[in-house]
Amino acid sequence: MAVLHNRVSQKELKERLYQETDPRTTISFYQYFPIADPKIFRDELYQALNEINVFGRIYVAHEGINAQLSVPQSNFEKLKMYLYSIEALNGIRLNIAVDDDGKSFWVLKIKVREKIVADGITDQSFSMERKGKYVDAGRMNELLQDKSTIVVDMRNHYEYDVGHFENALEVPSDTFREQLPMAVEMLKEEKDKNIIMYCTGGIRCEKASAYMLHNGFKNVFHLEGGIINYARQVKEAELQSKFIGKNFVFDDRLGERITDDIIAKCHQCGQAADSHTNCKNDGCHLLFIQCASCAAKYDGCCSVECQTVYNMPLEEQAAMRKGLDKGMMVFNKSRQRLRPRLNEEGKK
Ligand SMILES: [Zn+2]
Ligand SMILES: [Zn+2]
Repeated sequence: MAVLHNRVSQKELKERLYQETDPRTTISFYQYFPIADPKIFRDELYQALNEINVFGRIYVAHEGINAQLSVPQSNFEKLKMYLYSIEALNGIRLNIAVDDDGKSFWVLKIKVREKIVADGITDQSFSMERKGKYVDAGRMNELLQDKSTIVVDMRNHYEYDVGHFENALEVPSDTFREQLPMAVEMLKEEKDKNIIMYCTGGIRCEKASAYMLHNGFKNVFHLEGGIINYARQVKEAELQSKFIGKNFVFDDRLGERITDDIIAKCHQCGQAADSHTNCKNDGCHLLFIQCASCAAKYDGCCSVECQTVYNMPLEEQAAMRKGLDKGMMVFNKSRQRLRPRLNEEGKK
């Protein structure tokens, strides 16, 4: 029987990755389409991708596939041909990561999940087969000229904070599953208007568009490939960017500048700033916006308390961290309550 899971140790795998001579390309793609048996689909996919030495993280569900992977450049065409041989993936846009060393993955993991994007929808009659219409950058700009068009941002607060489409509506919740019913409630009087949903890469807003249609909205669109693709098209076609500020992304840069506008404020002193940073205190790591002068004043920390810890000897810091929750922290509306120190200073 074929081996359908990796059996080699992490250390060994990483060593192998760094010994490779054929450079890797990192790509991502997703597609909503009905998969009758995700387990069978998963096993076939694993065998095919494993054969051409693909690494990555892929989720498969009844509703479709979401994939981030890396492929040796010499196998790129083979991968593409294999994916295109699957009817629902024929011609799919493969997003190639820029500024990437191809070392993000060292093993292939394909998991069967309930959903490719957790949505909390319990209504059995909901289906991803009826989705909003795709819009590209040109069409998006056209639709935005009509002042009655409503643009809805389906990302998190910290993403919206540093960059968004002009006049975009924020749906103020931390989780996508809460945002869905909230968007329906917020727009319930606007069921006949043009509504455009968008997110970073398209996967969330595509589902949101289907959910709006499911709830009786008539003219729902979603931005194909999200802000990432919009920014690329705007550049290529020399269009005016209706997205202002920065597009937040989870890489080392924590955001890609789209226009020169700085629409956010330093969470500590309130002056214009839109650079996210993680608090330097290893026991905190809060994600927040900090200007250059506050970064210097607080040594890159979110508060005087964290700065004090940060400047203690490493052993003392480690002792203090014992037993603390190390989950990723972000500065957003609900967590502001947990962060009164930062909150107070931000109001000055
Ligand atoms: Zn500041
Ligand atoms: Zn901190």
